[in-house]
Amino acid sequence: MIGQRKAIVDAQAGLTRDRLYGVAEWRGREFTVVDTAGLDLDTAKDESRAAIEAQTKVAIDQADLIVFLLDVRQGLTPIDRDIARMLRTSRRNLIVVANKADSPSERHLAHELLELGFDEPSLISAQHGLGVGDLLDRLVEAMPPPEEAPGQDGSADRLAIMGRPNVGKSSLLNALLGDERALVSPIPGTTRDPIDTELTFGGVPVVLVDTAGIRRKSSSRDRLERYSLLRGIHAMERSDAVLLVIDGSAGVLAQDQHVAGYALEAGKGLVIVVNKIDLVEPDMRKPAYWRKALTNDFKFAAFAPVVAVSAKTKEGIRTVIPAALEVVGQRRIKMPPNELNRVLREAFLEHQPPSYKGRRLKLNYATQAAAETPTVVMFVNDTNLLHFSYRRYLEKKVRDRFGLVGNPLKLVLRAGK
Ligand code: GDP
Repeated sequence: MIGQRKAIVDAQAGLTRDRLYGVAEWRGREFTVVDTAGLDLDTAKDESRAAIEAQTKVAIDQADLIVFLLDVRQGLTPIDRDIARMLRTSRRNLIVVANKADSPSERHLAHELLELGFDEPSLISAQHGLGVGDLLDRLVEAMPPPEEAPGQDGSADRLAIMGRPNVGKSSLLNALLGDERALVSPIPGTTRDPIDTELTFGGVPVVLVDTAGIRRKSSSRDRLERYSLLRGIHAMERSDAVLLVIDGSAGVLAQDQHVAGYALEAGKGLVIVVNKIDLVEPDMRKPAYWRKALTNDFKFAAFAPVVAVSAKTKEGIRTVIPAALEVVGQRRIKMPPNELNRVLREAFLEHQPPSYKGRRLKLNYATQAAAETPTVVMFVNDTNLLHFSYRRYLEKKVRDRFGLVGNPLKLVLRAGK
């Protein structure tokens, strides 16, 4: 479902394994796909039931539409029936999908799936791509209309604190709220969601998204890691920028990179917050040290500002929200068409696109799209002629001129004038 885009983001971010999340687009509708239970079945053994149930409940709560995926070759398993029961009582919007229907002869168990009491399943073969287009049509039709994007004029900037367990998210939250410039709104309920924390920071309205999820502690956190990630992803989607917390005393783990990748893929702003600097050598407590040290691990997010803090001693805490507000501000930068076209034309002249089978990319016109994420639409002779490295080169030229600090830049190609 997430097809093409995944390939681009993965290549940039070096993320190929363990993906739980992706952004998909079908017939002009953009939506996010989250993979829930499944993996844990093998590892969690005795505890699997509780784990599956917890994850499934979060997934059910947070999804606009549920895809209940079954294996048509295997037929119904007891776990399928359990999940079906949970889904039936939730009365949520749901589509049953029977996978591994590679050939007509393998569809003999499809009738068994009707026993669950849902609508006719969509038959697909995910591996061979069969039936996926029809399924996407069905999904897009069943989805509720898109939510209004956050960060509209006049509303508060929305920040999501994300990171793997134990990096110090809840400690950071408390430290931020303890800052003398932070005034937590005494009247909750002006935001859509009571799980958010509204505050003003030096007079500027800010919403910290899903702080309830950060505060909620579970004794079996590791086992339910996907649970908290799922919740974090939902928070991220409702935010303008993500504060990615990493543990400076532990170094960068693949999971830290994944979260950064998710944020950028979703088009959000990003600030990297290195926490626990009280535990490292004095010369490692400066943001400049980390900016350099993180270069390799966050190559795909080189534009993200880095701050270094200790939630414990409060060192550096004052820099976090200002850095995030700067990133959100940069999302609203207007790129005047004349200037944008000049920058791109000069880039083409300075370094011409590589030729492919004797043809080269030609730019006719570029314009900024009215989108939440900084987006440049380029009208070109042939959209297949943009090489990955040339895309990066053009992005860099646009960034050099317009900044866009901390934000991904989308370059969208269209054929035409
Ligand atoms: P979360 O799971 O990301 O919300 O992490 P917590 O905020 O619960 O913190 C995990 C552990 O790290 C707790 O034992 C905290 O006391 C500790 N911790 C958090 N921030 C810091 C810090 O800046 N310095 C030190 N030394 N410990 C910290």
